[in-house]
Amino acid sequence: MQATIGRIRVLDEDTTAQIAAGEIIERPVSVVKELVENSLDAGASWIVVELRDGGRAEIAVHDDGHGIVHQDLALALARHGTSKITCAADLFSVRTLGFRGEGLASIAAAAASVEMVSRPAHEDFGTRIVAKGSHVAAAERVAAPAGTKVTVRELFAATPVRRDFLSSEKTELARVSVFLGRIALGWPAVAFSLHSDGREIWSLPAAKDPVDRLEMVFGKGSRGTLVPAHTPARGVVGVEGFTSRIGADRPNRAGQVLFVNGRLVRSPALSAAWSAAYAARIMTGRYPYGVLNVKLEPNDVDVNVHPTKIEVRFLAAATVFDAVRNSIGDALRADTANEESLTAFSMVPGAAQARGSDETILPAMSLLGEFEGLKGSSTAGSPLTRALGQIDQTFIVISDAAGLLILDQHAAHERIAFEALQAQQISPAGPAMLFPRIVELTPDQAATLETCSAELAAMGIAVEHFGDSAYRINALPSGYGERRFDLAGILEDIAGSPHDDHAGDLRRHLLASVACHSVVRAHEALSMQEQVTLYERLRACREPQTCPHGRPTMLRLDAAQLKGAFKRT
Ligand code: ADP
Ligand code: MG
Repeated sequence: MQATIGRIRVLDEDTTAQIAAGEIIERPVSVVKELVENSLDAGASWIVVELRDGGRAEIAVHDDGHGIVHQDLALALARHGTSKITCAADLFSVRTLGFRGEGLASIAAAAASVEMVSRPAHEDFGTRIVAKGSHVAAAERVAAPAGTKVTVRELFAATPVRRDFLSSEKTELARVSVFLGRIALGWPAVAFSLHSDGREIWSLPAAKDPVDRLEMVFGKGSRGTLVPAHTPARGVVGVEGFTSRIGADRPNRAGQVLFVNGRLVRSPALSAAWSAAYAARIMTGRYPYGVLNVKLEPNDVDVNVHPTKIEVRFLAAATVFDAVRNSIGDALRADTANEESLTAFSMVPGAAQARGSDETILPAMSLLGEFEGLKGSSTAGSPLTRALGQIDQTFIVISDAAGLLILDQHAAHERIAFEALQAQQISPAGPAMLFPRIVELTPDQAATLETCSAELAAMGIAVEHFGDSAYRINALPSGYGERRFDLAGILEDIAGSPHDDHAGDLRRHLLASVACHSVVRAHEALSMQEQVTLYERLRACREPQTCPHGRPTMLRLDAAQLKGAFKRT
């Protein structure tokens, strides 16, 4: 994408009628997005974002881009005033992030005032203009550095209802920080910095590639879990970026940063292609993460489908899907070739035994101290005990000398993990994790974490604040399945169910919740050996009949019941 140095014109009605309309300014981060996109379109080599009161009082974005000439500055604020397209046909070959001429006009309509100061490098003087609502004061000449600075004051001053919908200062700042960190991944050659109430929050110097920026978005240590994907445009689509190694996935798509020609987008189609590259090597409900920039000819993608331009439509969707899947597939193959030892993971029946370490095949099993026995062919318990298989990958059917047993695999595993944790069978101080895991917590989850971090630590779970909404899990009880450990889920549980204030109650509650969020779930395939082991371990429990929440774990059909059912009595 290259800088556009053109004059600003107001688009004609034919063109504006074809523009996807809708609200674009919702909160401070939407203002920052529009302004930063303008700076990037202007070819800036650095962009400084400054907030006051989380952006509610003031948002300023400053750049060293090509600037706006004196005569055009007022037009920049006009609805549909743009230098980026001139007619409706241009809508199908957009090379810039903006193109509708609505960004600045929408901001001016939402804020108490917008001040713009701009100077093209070739001019001696800059121009300053202030818009208050629909009133735009006359442009005046001022001394100014080359580039543009836009200052937006008091967002939603005239619409208190909308202002009341804004979150706390900290949360709005966090949203801006997350957005900037993400967009910075797609624009490594541009330096970015974020300031809040006069303090620098972070700054990223210009870099050759996004490697140095990965840690800011994905957390410290993420470098080791991300592998590069570089597929130069073969045919029409090129793919660049980093994707998580097999085994280093996440419980949601929040870690998938997607760009299409430098535009930060949300795209179920691209996400699906991304996941497809992992095929059987990732569990349902787990997602790869990283950053991908998909590059294609501007006329092969329609960017005019959503008011905030966050969604795009591909003309040849299948080609793009294949290109992304293949590129990621290549990256993963290159990685496993380099490092065979890295956790190959599969829950596909049959494949599970073939490869991978204990941790990756059925991680929570190792919590039970049982996995070593499981790996060998020696099945614990009576030789007459056999697993017959799973029903709906949720219920395990076991036969023994006395009849049939049906286990709820999740409830059963919960009971086992609960008693194991309770009995302190696990060593409380687990070893530091090879790749400490970073998780994002909502402010509510973070608050809950504060109330129970001592209890968690006592269980061998070490969590440390890692800046903004990121938390780092440094240690889990030894043998504990890292993959399944779902901190956010545990915290939601604790917050969502009432418990008395005393520590004993909280502890019991935590044990049940940690057990619940660390074991096999419904709809997971288990090998026959895993099924038998689960049953044997359940039998060894003190209270095998129910899970820690009181639901039944198994159902028995013995010969007498079968006789009754078949009217043989
Ligand atoms: P759009 O980005 O869709 O064109 P905007 O309302 O965001 O619409 O901006 C209107 C015009 O103002 C842009 O087309 C561009 O010419 C000019 N402009 C806005 N911000 C900047 C900037 N930071 N540097 C240079 N020109 C800018
Ligand atoms: Mg714009």
